[in-house]
Amino acid sequence: MVIELKNLNKSFYTDEGELKVLQNVNLALEHGKILGVLGPSGSGKSTLLNILTNLIKPTSGTVEVNGKIGYMFQKDHLLEWRTIKDNIMIGLEIQKKITPQAVEKIDRLLKTYGLWEFRNRYPRELSGGMRQRVALIRTLATDPDILLLDEPFSALDYQTRLLVSDDIYKIIKQEGKDAILVSHDISEIISVCDTICVLSKRPATVKAKYEIELTIEGERTPLVSRNAPEFKYYFDLLWKELEMYAQ
Ligand code: ADP
Ligand code: MG
Repeated sequence: MVIELKNLNKSFYTDEGELKVLQNVNLALEHGKILGVLGPSGSGKSTLLNILTNLIKPTSGTVEVNGKIGYMFQKDHLLEWRTIKDNIMIGLEIQKKITPQAVEKIDRLLKTYGLWEFRNRYPRELSGGMRQRVALIRTLATDPDILLLDEPFSALDYQTRLLVSDDIYKIIKQEGKDAILVSHDISEIISVCDTICVLSKRPATVKAKYEIELTIEGERTPLVSRNAPEFKYYFDLLWKELEMYAQ
């Protein structure tokens, strides 16, 4: 297992008292897989990822992470006054790890993923989809083993979202990374993930777990997955799961 969470509980203590967010959450990420965490807004998905990166502490339970984590958010958080390349360098700059090998690696990523011609441009000159690709490359530049994706496509319009999820998926697979994708979008999560955990509404607990098995000729990608014969079956299943926890 790359990541294993056991009996995880998290409460926030506010002026109004205790807010129980996560209740006895158990989940695991296997090597070579993309794990989806599907849950309604406000159920505690971002809280879960923040616990994995040590940004916040759980109230109780155990967290096992085997590998270095990279985080990708809904907003790209690109710095408008820095060029694309300088944005991608920022993580290494902060960690004071700019070595010739690191720069070489960044140049390889820029070239492989179609950003080389844009390296001296500024974020405002790029489309939303391209900006998300830059955000992913920036995360990859710090050489993580595991990627945590917190609704990274939800700020994009529908068509761009489909294309960008395809794009990001291919990069994750090509770079051989394990990943957790958190989302409230049923279709998106089926199209991208190998395993899906469904969270209940707050306090969130894992209500169901599904292995996604799709009949696909050739290479699996999110766009191809959407046309698999089993897609609707999983959609209906997850729709019902979420509906149950909406009440
Ligand atoms: P999701 O990502 O699933 O939409 P979050 O993890 O962001 O949900 O939030 C879950 C709940 O925890 C929300 O009700 C949110 O308001 C609350 N919450 C998140 N962070 C804090 C905090 N630092 N202090 C108090 N409440 C918080
Ligand atoms: Mg969130």
